[in-house]
Amino acid sequence: MADEFPFELSPMFEGERIRKDDMYIELAGPKDKGFELVRAADMDEVEDDGFTLIGPDLSEMKEGERYPFAMIYKIAGAAIEPDLEAIVERRNHDFQNYISGIMHLNQRYDIWLRVGKDAIAKGLNSFEPIAKATMMLFKNEMPFIEKMEALYITGIDEIEKRLPEVQAIYETRDARTRDLHDEDVDTFYGCTLCQSFAPTNVCVVTPDRVSLCGAINWFDGRAAAKVDPEGPQFAIEKGECIDELGGEYDGVNEAAASLSQGEYARIKLHSFFEYPHTSCGCFEVVGYYIPELDVIGWVDRDYAAAAPNGLTFANMAGQTGGGKQIVGFLGIGINYFRSPKFIVADGGWNRVGWMPKHLKDRVLDDIPKDIVDAIATEEDATDLDSLKAFMTEKNHPAIAELLKKEEAKEAKKKKEEAISAAAVPEVVAGMPIGVGMPMPAPVAGMLSGFGSGGGIKIVLKNAKITIDQVIVKHEEE
Ligand code: SF4
Repeated sequence: MADEFPFELSPMFEGERIRKDDMYIELAGPKDKGFELVRAADMDEVEDDGFTLIGPDLSEMKEGERYPFAMIYKIAGAAIEPDLEAIVERRNHDFQNYISGIMHLNQRYDIWLRVGKDAIAKGLNSFEPIAKATMMLFKNEMPFIEKMEALYITGIDEIEKRLPEVQAIYETRDARTRDLHDEDVDTFYGCTLCQSFAPTNVCVVTPDRVSLCGAINWFDGRAAAKVDPEGPQFAIEKGECIDELGGEYDGVNEAAASLSQGEYARIKLHSFFEYPHTSCGCFEVVGYYIPELDVIGWVDRDYAAAAPNGLTFANMAGQTGGGKQIVGFLGIGINYFRSPKFIVADGGWNRVGWMPKHLKDRVLDDIPKDIVDAIATEEDATDLDSLKAFMTEKNHPAIAELLKKEEAKEAKKKKEEAISAAAVPEVVAGMPIGVGMPMPAPVAGMLSGFGSGGGIKIVLKNAKITIDQVIVKHEEE
């Protein structure tokens, strides 16, 4: 059946990247609109293998251009229920990447595709075979899908018209876990779908922690594990709680150790610094530690400029992804900001110093009222100096902590200096020791300890030392 398509179809194309020079057209992405959506429907509402396109087809698109793009799939089957929509939708990423000459990135409203020049040269001139191949893969790999129909849209008016309703569907899905918490359940869900490019990544999805791609919540994980227990989403019995605040459970640790091939053996679900959750590369937002201010900044895919640490989302995503535990960077899904356990082990919102305005606005209702005005956006600060000034002006709790730490450090330094000054004889202070000068007796006494095996400590204050040459010789008997 795959022979009917004007492209090759195999999981081996999953890692294929289409660079700008090799790209024929780009679809959606950070500079245009788009989305992907799966909806459960009754059997008689779905025309199996049906395909409709609203807007220009591939053959009408100009090389090198960018176009809006949306994909809506209707699925039906005896086992199909709305809880399965999100996990079916997430697989669109996999299956479209099986197509040679197509690159699919991200999910939901963040999708970004490229069609390569090679694919066009081999005869691909329509979206229809792409949709048909994708639906064939869905039905092969997820046999509970009995009927499937695709609607692709490339017309901006139609996409803009549908977007508010689509956003509302994502939000309804996300809101389902609001009243359910980690302590209310015995089972979490794992996902290893992204191990194809981040081989040690294990996503642990709990009621208080949405997946870092943002596409799979606890209910979605449960539905997926039920309908396809051998699939990439599976149950994890959480076991004994080891650290309630950090969110560490022995069942999660066991799963992490075995599924990461021993790369790590502990995960604290709600900690930024200690045994943090891994990040594969699909995360919606990346968190970055700002040591100068002892706070954490967050930046999402839609913010193209540099964050106050001088790095862009793309710069930091490169360091964070790959499925390793990287202390100082953390990928998360946007809905995790809404969790009462959001990095609670590290101070929660009181540890947040900066985020882009559109992201802050999006989660505004979930930021505690006493901190919300003290979290800077690009309108308040674009570098570390302006961030420090803003946080100081707004009495950010992290700045008060920082000042306390700095004062304690300064007091400690002064105390050490006082002890050192008291230990150095007065005659040494400020007196240069040079060739031909008599050495003060206490210093000469100290230096005579050289070679005797006793060891000495020399404190040099305000000293400038220039050494042209150091010769180390074995001492003759
Ligand atoms: S980011 Fe995590 S939950 Fe989302 S598809 Fe990848 S492994 Fe699964």
